[in-house]
Amino acid sequence: MHAKGEKTMDLIPSFSVDHTRIIPGIFTSRVDTLGDQKVTTYDVRVTRPNIEPAVDVAAMHSLEHIVATYLRNDPEWKDQIIYWGPMGCLTGFYLILKGNRAPEEIYGLVLRAFQSVEDSQDVPGASPENCGNYLMHNLGMAKWYARKFAAYLTENADRPEIFQYPQAQRLVTEDGRQFFDS
Ligand SMILES: [Zn+2]
Repeated sequence: MHAKGEKTMDLIPSFSVDHTRIIPGIFTSRVDTLGDQKVTTYDVRVTRPNIEPAVDVAAMHSLEHIVATYLRNDPEWKDQIIYWGPMGCLTGFYLILKGNRAPEEIYGLVLRAFQSVEDSQDVPGASPENCGNYLMHNLGMAKWYARKFAAYLTENADRPEIFQYPQAQRLVTEDGRQFFDS
């Protein structure tokens, strides 16, 4: 029926995530190949989509600054970090790393990064010189979310569901294009 669409299906992943069954955790979103290098995008999902409230936008912004600063200064991992940033839905973050590791292998890094928020005296880069909306920060709320997520990761460390997304068929839009959110 859609011959062109079917050909494209062979080239890109045809499954996406069933957002009605997501629980917080660390998940592989996609693996890309650049030359002979693999690059992995992880979803660091902090809240349950559409079931609990999304993260407060100012807290999300502060977590973006604090965790990015932590990751890019970590002696062991800083050279592996390509990107850290918030999801538009405000339920989690994208983390892009060099290589292709299982989410279990970055559990310790993600846990330490969120635990570090507790020790932050201020939000790094919350100034007009360094940020596009420097007044939109909330360190207290950022600490609350980080503490909650770190406790969750610790309590659920042995559950495979915090590392494995529930899959669903990828949505095809009415005009025949495959849906992506990042
Ligand atoms: Zn900013």
